[in-house]
Amino acid sequence: MMSQRVKVGVAVGALVVALALIIYQFSSQGPDISSLASGAPALDSETGELFPRFMAPREVAPWLNTDTGKRTIWPAEPCYYLPDGRIKSKPTYVIPSGIGFTDAKVCPDCGRKVVSRNPRPTSQEIEIAKKEGR
Ligand SMILES: [Zn+2]
Repeated sequence: MMSQRVKVGVAVGALVVALALIIYQFSSQGPDISSLASGAPALDSETGELFPRFMAPREVAPWLNTDTGKRTIWPAEPCYYLPDGRIKSKPTYVIPSGIGFTDAKVCPDCGRKVVSRNPRPTSQEIEIAKKEGR
């Protein structure tokens, strides 16, 4: 039988541990785990869902979408262009042509063909576009 004193001691001990955990949770300014994982943008060719930081398995695309159970996830490339050729700050992600995806796509926004390692504007150009609200 535990004495009353031991019971109180255990309760206080548990409380201290709980408080310490709470304080640790709030005080730890460590980096977000999701930002540590690299990943790369990927798109589901059927649902159109974008996975901004998809951790691709070590196998050839298309990859399994665990939500749908289908192998419909492909690497995606950002397209930073507007139909008139100007640059926008928020890219449209497109499954590039020539990666085995038979339904080769052009960018739905600007109509350009998007390829693997799609040419990107400079960060300055993107910054200007952002300032100008594009
Ligand atoms: Zn585009």
